[in-house]
Amino acid sequence: MAYKKTAIVSVYDKTGLLDLAKGLQENNVRILASGGTAKMIREAGFQVEDVSTITHAPEMLGGRVKTLHPAVHGGILARNLDSDEKDLQDQKIEKVDFVVCNLYPFKETVAKIGVTIPEAVEEIDIGGVTLLRAAAKNHSRVAILSDPKDYPQFLQELSADSNNEISQNLKNKLALKAFESTSDYDTAIADFFRKQYSENESQITLRYGANPHQKPAQAFISQPYDQLPFKVLSGSPGYINLLDALNSWPLVKELSGSLNLPAAASFKHVSPAGVAVGLPLNDVEKKIYFVSKIENINKSPLACAYARARGADRMSSFGDWIALSNVVDLPTAQIISTEVSDGVIAPGYEPEALALLQKKKNGKYCVLQIDPNYVPDALETRSVYGVSLQQKRNDAVITQSTFKEIVSQNKHLPEQAIIDLTVATISLKYTQSNSVCYAKNGMVIGLGAGQQSRIHCTRLAGDKADNWWFRQHPKVLAFQWAKGVKKPEKSNAIDLFVTGQIPTQEPEKQEYESKFSVVPEPLTEEERKEWLSKLNNVALSSDAFFPFPDNVYRAVRSGVKYIAAPSGSVMDKQVFGAADSFDLVYVENPFRLFHH
Ligand code: 5GP
Repeated sequence: MAYKKTAIVSVYDKTGLLDLAKGLQENNVRILASGGTAKMIREAGFQVEDVSTITHAPEMLGGRVKTLHPAVHGGILARNLDSDEKDLQDQKIEKVDFVVCNLYPFKETVAKIGVTIPEAVEEIDIGGVTLLRAAAKNHSRVAILSDPKDYPQFLQELSADSNNEISQNLKNKLALKAFESTSDYDTAIADFFRKQYSENESQITLRYGANPHQKPAQAFISQPYDQLPFKVLSGSPGYINLLDALNSWPLVKELSGSLNLPAAASFKHVSPAGVAVGLPLNDVEKKIYFVSKIENINKSPLACAYARARGADRMSSFGDWIALSNVVDLPTAQIISTEVSDGVIAPGYEPEALALLQKKKNGKYCVLQIDPNYVPDALETRSVYGVSLQQKRNDAVITQSTFKEIVSQNKHLPEQAIIDLTVATISLKYTQSNSVCYAKNGMVIGLGAGQQSRIHCTRLAGDKADNWWFRQHPKVLAFQWAKGVKKPEKSNAIDLFVTGQIPTQEPEKQEYESKFSVVPEPLTEEERKEWLSKLNNVALSSDAFFPFPDNVYRAVRSGVKYIAAPSGSVMDKQVFGAADSFDLVYVENPFRLFHH
């Protein structure tokens, strides 16, 4: 009896193979199979022919060449076209209707400890991938089974149709699965060889992921990039370091590009604690940012930028990740060398600066050099709980013109306010949402990140801005420290003082007081009120609209005069009205800037 259809079967995973063979035979399908597959079918008593029946060539090279032959691939790839039919006739090739194939277990092999490159190489399936690709390519005619789970549905359709045709719908689904399977297979092969041949170039192995029990962990980049965009000059970055580095670098790059000033960021847990551009520092600022001893700091705008970024919220910046927009000079490295910090990313380092940083933390301080010309792919993909999420990168460009849509009655936006709104808004673009940012003097002075409610961001950031301001109070500047008190201890004590949380209970009280040679008198309510009333011309940006006017009311209490936020709230009118009642300048930001 003449066969109605032809199937090529070549499977590593032989699950369900015999049921499939039985079904094929019952439907009068000719089965051609590769060595091991044919043997199993034959031994079970079903009819099967070796692929060599049509190739007239034996399997060779120890199995490396089994099905790679025009008789196989011509039969699979031929369309229902006269020209294709003629080619087949000339070459005496018969059409193949179904391909059943799954691949050598490359992933399982390389997962074994101590696997060698030759062992891995032998597990790279060649003919199988070709079968899958060829059949999937020609899925308008050919059905490709790459997963034993699909055999039952295939057999059901095969038996149900008098001509043993498979529906186009099923052929489409099966083709997609085959493409997914070759793609996944090649991804695994590339991953293996990247680790073998491109370690520290396009791939680095990380000690662990977000937590020590999350192993293995790595960072890598795929084609079209040959190399990671950064080089490790010292230390070894961790997973969170890289999250910080790869968020903080674009922030300072964009900020510096937008304002044409060096920029710095101090990151913690993937949000900025401080961000600034390099405006010169006055003596009070030098003092409260602990940089009075850095010689000629005002000659280095980059050092000024980092002093400000680090000085904005010293409590949060403890152990920070630093990003710097320009080649790092000695004054900047000197500030870094005296602070507790995890690492830094910058486009370059002057030799003395690098030498200083490489000595930090006994040589463990992480120093990364970023390629400033690196442009990431326009699409970004991440996987969460096994699901891939993909989006176009947030390529919103924040420039002066972002702040041209003024919706308040007061339309006067001075140059410093534009600088401050730019600093605040670009910072938010790289801050975990929700977020609200207060800025002044070219620097972030308070940032509320990662809060679920907007008013909580506005309050948190406002409280931080107040703390920043109170750190400049004459009483704080006059603090007399006990001998040997370190900078972080000073920052902690100042924070207790300015936030009005001076300890009253032991042992905390004694510990606090031990930091001073003369314990300072707390600020009175009057002093607080009076000092806070002097905080003015603060700029505020919000990563999304204000849903209620309460945000404006809170902002005003911390000296906010300029607000930039997207619109779109049902309460827009009331929010703008609240701004008008305080004579604020309210700018409609065209971009919502959620970041996660
Ligand atoms: P079998 O057990 O039938 O001998 O081999 C089945 C396996 O061989 C399948 O995993 C299939 O993907 C793979 N295969 C089929 N043709 C070729 C070929 O020409 N070269 C190589 N290297 N593998 C092939």
